[in-house]
Amino acid sequence: MAEAGEPEALVSAADGGDPRALARLISLVENGSPQLRDVMRLIAPRTGRARVVGLTGAPGVGKSTITGALVSAYRTEQLRVGVIAVDPTSPFTGGALLGDRVRMQEHATDGGVFIRSMASRGHLGGLSWAVPQALRILDAAGFDVVLIETVGVGQAEVAIASLADTTLVIVAPGMGDSVQAAKAGILEIADIFVVNKSDRPGAQEAVRDLRAMLAMAPQRDEGAWKPPIVLSSAASGEGIGDLVGRLDEHASWLAESGEGERRRVARAREEITALAVAQVRERLGALPGEARLEDLAGQVASGKLDPYSAADELIDG
Ligand code: GDP
Repeated sequence: MAEAGEPEALVSAADGGDPRALARLISLVENGSPQLRDVMRLIAPRTGRARVVGLTGAPGVGKSTITGALVSAYRTEQLRVGVIAVDPTSPFTGGALLGDRVRMQEHATDGGVFIRSMASRGHLGGLSWAVPQALRILDAAGFDVVLIETVGVGQAEVAIASLADTTLVIVAPGMGDSVQAAKAGILEIADIFVVNKSDRPGAQEAVRDLRAMLAMAPQRDEGAWKPPIVLSSAASGEGIGDLVGRLDEHASWLAESGEGERRRVARAREEITALAVAQVRERLGALPGEARLEDLAGQVASGKLDPYSAADELIDG
């Protein structure tokens, strides 16, 4: 394996599919390594090919099971599949989150599959640039499909799911998920709804609830994508073929409508902004624990200084 300090060697090893090189590159992202600049410059011309699918939904609805089933389905089409599991809430988990899951074990030794989990490590907004960069690395390494699985349905998950070309919102019967999803503003980001655990009672009701909520949503423009509802029983693989078909339809629509290009540009815009904000914070020393900021914070807290003057001082200094 390439040594640290050799972005070129790492990038070319990752291009050949070396999983250790890939893992190392993604670690550079998680650590905010200075070597990332070289890595990103080297891989930029090779990016822009992967299809990115986001999976979101409450814990227990079957995201991991569906992810595993999709990996299998794409592997039978000889496509290379990357999986990024994102946990915006937990501290660094070192790749254990998803890799350990039983459903993923069968893919652990498949060179055409790369699975990695990422956590925020407590950096506010850290994932907003880390996930797109990890995505970029897998894209450049020639993965045809990248699945991004998030834990939960909070705001961070919505933000991450919206990095995708296609966003799946997954619910399960009897959990009141569809109502929860509506509350979390997730109806708007769904390109495809999946009602999983359709082997359980209440699946048809969940479909009906979703249809009712979609009917109440503002009318989409002519030619706009109408999010289909797919029933699946991922544990047995039922409905996964249908889901793959819907994903293909959405990919075609993205290409034909120009929406795919718009989403890629939007993703890049978010990424640039997040990087710029992170750099500004760093240059200002405006990080919690930083002496200058702590001093100013103390003054503002005790009423010695107003926050605008403190912000000016931070910038001017
Ligand atoms: P996640 O937390 O959303 O990733 O959910 P998991 O994929 O870990 O699934 C949670 C539980 O539901 C596991 O015990 C799965 O085996 C089970 N499960 C997943 N899909 C189905 C399904 O279609 N039907 C049933 N009955 N159980 C399922």
